[in-house]
Amino acid sequence: MSRWAWGAAHVRFGMHLAFSNGPRRAREIGCRSLQVFCGNPRGWHKTPLEPAFVERFRADAAAAGLEPVVVHATYLINMAAPDARLYERSRKALVTELERAVQIGAHYYVIHCGHHMGSGAAAGRKRVATCLREALNRVPHGPPILLENAGGSGTELGATFEALAEMLDAAGSPRLGVCLDTCHTLIAGYEIRTPEGVAATLDHLARTVGLERLRCLHVNDAKGNLGSHLDRHEHVGRGHIGAHGFRAFFADRRLWHLPAILETPKDAPCADPDNLWRAIGIAIAAGATSVAESGRRPRRIRPDVVPARRRTKAKPLAKKKSGGKMRAARRKQRRSP
Ligand SMILES: [Zn+2]
Ligand SMILES: [Zn+2]
Repeated sequence: MSRWAWGAAHVRFGMHLAFSNGPRRAREIGCRSLQVFCGNPRGWHKTPLEPAFVERFRADAAAAGLEPVVVHATYLINMAAPDARLYERSRKALVTELERAVQIGAHYYVIHCGHHMGSGAAAGRKRVATCLREALNRVPHGPPILLENAGGSGTELGATFEALAEMLDAAGSPRLGVCLDTCHTLIAGYEIRTPEGVAATLDHLARTVGLERLRCLHVNDAKGNLGSHLDRHEHVGRGHIGAHGFRAFFADRRLWHLPAILETPKDAPCADPDNLWRAIGIAIAAGATSVAESGRRPRRIRPDVVPARRRTKAKPLAKKKSGGKMRAARRKQRRSP
């Protein structure tokens, strides 16, 4: 079962890393938390996990002191899908992934609300709530499910705090929460780069979702500006949030008990540790953590050993069933975890 007893109030930084060697790599670069996909994020099929792999994953995560371990949902899942077949597939995949999350000892499962694909936002939100309720019932001992706020492009759901609150309330379970992505928050139109902006945004979140339901942060800079809905992640400090913006963000004490996971571009061999330690440096300056809590950047970090992403062939179903809108939605979803 999940246990989030990380006592001291300081932000626990981590990264989204490969499932195959995530815990080891996380330890090597100095993470305190970790996010992974629990299999190929672009495919429906999940090969059952080998007991030896599960054992090693758990042992490595424990040895590295990674808490929380977060599983990010597969991109293909769309809980808001109006198409009955895609909805059913999504629901089944969600159950399978929750079970896998239990197997590897994950503390949270983060998922995007999905796309209503022209069927209307209200109907989409209803389907999301139903899907969540069913999945939670099917996996009674699964980790809490966190809805990630969206940037709000196209028919994407969950870009406003009101919408998130509505889905959480409709699903009605204490095992639900929210993961706040800094890039998505900014491009959705919430100012988080000034002390006043952060205060107003978190006040707004408190009034709608409730701060007790905020369980995780995704720390990404944004290629798009405030309210642009352009969902492209950028290296920490290099985008429209910038180092000053992140400093203002992390200065708010209401965030200090949370894990903060980076999903920044992996376009250079040391991009991961560079982003991680830039973010930690900013957070230390803001008082959100300290050298004593987060440690120092390890001296020797090997260049990235994450295997190149496997190209998967388009599935016949996707070819046959998906219209232009669905493909566009998928293409967009691919851009950021
Ligand atoms: Zn994210
Ligand atoms: Zn995500």
